Amino acid sequence: MSLGEFDLIERFFWRPAGVGPHRAVVGNGDDCAVIAPTPGMQLAVSTDTLVEGRHFLSTVDPARLGHKALAVNLSDLAACGARPVAFTLALTLPRVDEAWLAGFASGLLALADAHECELIGGDTTAGPLAIGITVMGEVPAGQALLRSRAQAGDDLWVSGTPGEARLALEAFRGSLRPPLSGEAFEAVRARMECPTPRVALGLAVQGLAHAAIDVSDGLLGDLGHILRRSRVGAAVFVDALPVSPWLAGRPRDEQLDCVLAGGDDYELLLAVPPEHRARMAALSGELGLPLTRIGRLEAEPGLRLWTGALDAGAGAPAPQPMPHRWASFDHFKS
Ligand code: ADP
Ligand code: MG
Repeated sequence: MSLGEFDLIERFFWRPAGVGPHRAVVGNGDDCAVIAPTPGMQLAVSTDTLVEGRHFLSTVDPARLGHKALAVNLSDLAACGARPVAFTLALTLPRVDEAWLAGFASGLLALADAHECELIGGDTTAGPLAIGITVMGEVPAGQALLRSRAQAGDDLWVSGTPGEARLALEAFRGSLRPPLSGEAFEAVRARMECPTPRVALGLAVQGLAHAAIDVSDGLLGDLGHILRRSRVGAAVFVDALPVSPWLAGRPRDEQLDCVLAGGDDYELLLAVPPEHRARMAALSGELGLPLTRIGRLEAEPGLRLWTGALDAGAGAPAPQPMPHRWASFDHFKS
């Protein structure tokens, strides 16, 4: 090892405390970081770990990996409606590779700076490559968006165009017939490797949404978490689902697999009362982010899929139930 543990931390990850908009009283480099919470706010805390071979390929660009490691954590804050404040980084490295570390730190810290989320400490050990991040955010007391507050009658909304990360994964696996064009592959690959956490949306739907979750394991699987916690059921209208331009020309079965069961998109799924439909539509324009109404929550437990129009008026063909086979991705299922 050319670079010792402390030199490595100092060179790549130390950030001066108390600079700019940040609120760390003591940053990294001491026994603890000390942060000053804003009066009247509650702290939202979440941890996510990325393990080589499980969550990312060993060949991934280190800057993208740094971005993604923080992005998946910021996505959890977004799903709670929290504003990012600070994070810690637990890094396990097989060796000291300075070029890799420089790339990783640049991707990580660029996203951190974009969200004014300060790196305030961490831990660095030797071992198989793994990245653990704990992120802290703030939310007005009692206002955190929870999975448990959805109500029958709420509309179900999804942000962005979910399914693109799954399309990229299948392209990497070589399972797509026909294969993707080079342009399509690069576009969906960027969505898988460099997801955008929907922080602004999470903040904007405070006071509008009853419940929210970020889609990391698949739209239907993650919807299932809202349904169980809120003790409601749902009707999802497959013909209302947003279809990414990169999925538009693909076989219908593949589209539905990607949109309904694909994970890793980090879009938000929201339960919003119907009186806020106009506000949600306006918000989509303000944020430059598609927001699509894909169904509704119902008192009857369970998840039901329908074909046909979500708001079929008089005289329109009645929606038809659709059998489904999509389950959530589960790391411990074979
Ligand atoms: P301790 O022995 O108290 O656990 P460490 O030797 O693990 O301290 O770390 C020394 C200092 O460097 C601490 O302030 C810690 O928060 C910081 N640090 C360690 N690893 C990282 C990292 N990967 N990123 C940012 N700060 C780190
Ligand atoms: Mg330590």
